[in-house]
Amino acid sequence: MSIDPTPAKVIQPLDVDYDAIRSSNPHRMVHGVEARLIRLRQQAINLWTALQAYRTSSGIRAVMAKLKEHRALASGGKRVKKLVSVEGRSHWRLFIPANTSHLHVPFLKGELNRLVPHSKGGHELAVVFLSVTKKCPLKCEHCFEWHNLNQKEVIGPEDINRMIENLQSIGATNIAFTGGEPMLRVREMAESIRRYKSKSQFWILTSGFNFTATNAAELRSAGAHGVVVSIDHYDPLAHDQFRGSRGSFRDAINAVKHALDKGFLTAISTCVTRDNANREYIDEFMNMARSLGVGFVQWIEPKAVGHYAMQDVILKPEHQVVLEEALLDYTYAEAFKNHPLVIYHEYYQRKLGCFASGNKMVYVDTDGDLMSCPFCHRKGGSLLSDDFRQSLENLRSTGCSDYAPVIG
Ligand code: SF4
Repeated sequence: MSIDPTPAKVIQPLDVDYDAIRSSNPHRMVHGVEARLIRLRQQAINLWTALQAYRTSSGIRAVMAKLKEHRALASGGKRVKKLVSVEGRSHWRLFIPANTSHLHVPFLKGELNRLVPHSKGGHELAVVFLSVTKKCPLKCEHCFEWHNLNQKEVIGPEDINRMIENLQSIGATNIAFTGGEPMLRVREMAESIRRYKSKSQFWILTSGFNFTATNAAELRSAGAHGVVVSIDHYDPLAHDQFRGSRGSFRDAINAVKHALDKGFLTAISTCVTRDNANREYIDEFMNMARSLGVGFVQWIEPKAVGHYAMQDVILKPEHQVVLEEALLDYTYAEAFKNHPLVIYHEYYQRKLGCFASGNKMVYVDTDGDLMSCPFCHRKGGSLLSDDFRQSLENLRSTGCSDYAPVIG
């Protein structure tokens, strides 16, 4: 397809008929006794996994103390009382495999290993964001790949497979395809997922472009696990203007429907700008997410990189306070028990340190180079190179310029 390189000037909204595009297969929020029973079962699995990993009471006590410390820092010790049910699978967090998955226990062991080491190797990375194309028809205000967008492709299908093999050789539980717009490489993604799905959960992070019912069905039947759709306003016109593309709101809402219809674990990701960091906006947005039927909403803060480079966009403390209070409400308050769970990485990173930089998470850019995260544009060597492990180590030892090292 040809990509239109001219910036969008004036954008008119398209009509959006919500009723026609609401999925009949929404995620279900679980709370009360049902959630408590599922949690009890999960606690038994956690304990059994810790026993298997450490085999000594001192090891188990040490890791339990670390977990308690983390929970105290993140939430004052409070426990999440709701979870998301997707076709019989239960999810508290977006990237933790359901306890019915063969990846669940290996993932837990990898997480425990990060807190209190019990073995070498294993599941080293919880999440990898893997860019598979430089092409994209949108022109988003906050695009972090802006300077690479619609340049000549560097990565081919064989490179994608080689990168996945390298990532799986060190244990990458979740591999999330991004770009550019990854749905421009739907055939290649489906092929790779079919080949490598036994060792990782595969995700598509999309603007909704080209996420048609047919393509959703192909990806799901190949074995893709989850979809994160970017929606940056509940108002179609405001979203289309932010994304620089008329009709992108309609595409995004349709993508959510197709993802839910096909049984993907489905989330919405949204960049919360200063203009939108107020409680009225957040509540309206969360109501839209609930009515669409997704189980998770991810809030990301704008960063002065890519299209936002040199701009004064970083949220101020007063904006962060609004978001942090809303996060705690949507996570713990009875009044919001039927709303989706919120993922707000920046909040947890301020409390617990940087998860990225090759620690739990790493980003691979459109050249196949390892980077700490999508917003930290310091390259750490190629994932296609034989010494990618050393590059990853270098990223880990250099750390992050925005957040403290993760609390071990
Ligand atoms: S943020 Fe994503 S969808 Fe928007 S222009 Fe950049 S690559 Fe495209």
